[in-house]
Amino acid sequence: MLLTLSDVEVAYGAVTALRGVSLEVAEGEIVTLLGANGAGKTTTLRTISGLLRPKAGEVRLDGRPLSSIPAHGLVGAGVSHVPEGRRVFPSMSVRENLLMGAYHDRRHARADLERVVALFPRLAERIGQAGGTLSGGEQQMLAIGRALMSRPRLILLDEPSMGLAPMIVQTIFEVIAEINREGVAVLLVEQNAASALRIAGRGYVLETGRVVLADTAAALLADDRVRQAYLGED
Ligand code: ATP
Repeated sequence: MLLTLSDVEVAYGAVTALRGVSLEVAEGEIVTLLGANGAGKTTTLRTISGLLRPKAGEVRLDGRPLSSIPAHGLVGAGVSHVPEGRRVFPSMSVRENLLMGAYHDRRHARADLERVVALFPRLAERIGQAGGTLSGGEQQMLAIGRALMSRPRLILLDEPSMGLAPMIVQTIFEVIAEINREGVAVLLVEQNAASALRIAGRGYVLETGRVVLADTAAALLADDRVRQAYLGED
């Protein structure tokens, strides 16, 4: 298993955010993590990328406890995190932003840059433009592109469609599917549950820090509780 969380508990001071979360992502899968605001989705991603330390339970990458990998070594271990709110470097060009993603190993940077701009033709057209002047959708493409520059085996995406126009959302989901076809596993946090379940193979539903449902995406799409709570149906 590429990623395994076993009974992970995480707290912010006195506030417990995760109350024993167990989940798995296998090589090459798209797995989605659904849940209402405050359910613990962002906390789960931040724990996997080593930004938060569990107070109980364990995160393993390739069977190795995460606690044995220094946080700065995680990228080398194949995990790339695209946080909520797409943090691009506003005064750096698109090219410079992308190259920042290859900082730990520059050997393949040129080839990887080609690959990323082939995936996002919009970025190719704006390669010399300052990151801060891109539209929201283009900044999201840049944030994902930058994460791909480190050649991850697993990419953690936190609400990539947030605040974007429907047409751009569709492009972002198509690109996620394409990245996955190239062999990268994806753990996708989304408010847009219907689109996430359409590209995912499996999903988990979090409620107040606990996994309350875990199933194939097809089964979750058909589940009455999911349809009511996350797909806006009654
Ligand atoms: P959203 O969809 O709103 O981003 P989420 O599912 O990602 O929600 P988290 O951001 O993981 O939820 O938050 C889980 C819980 O932890 C919430 O109750 C939240 O208030 C709390 N929390 C998150 N960050 C902090 C923090 N820095 N300090 C204290 N409590 C926090």
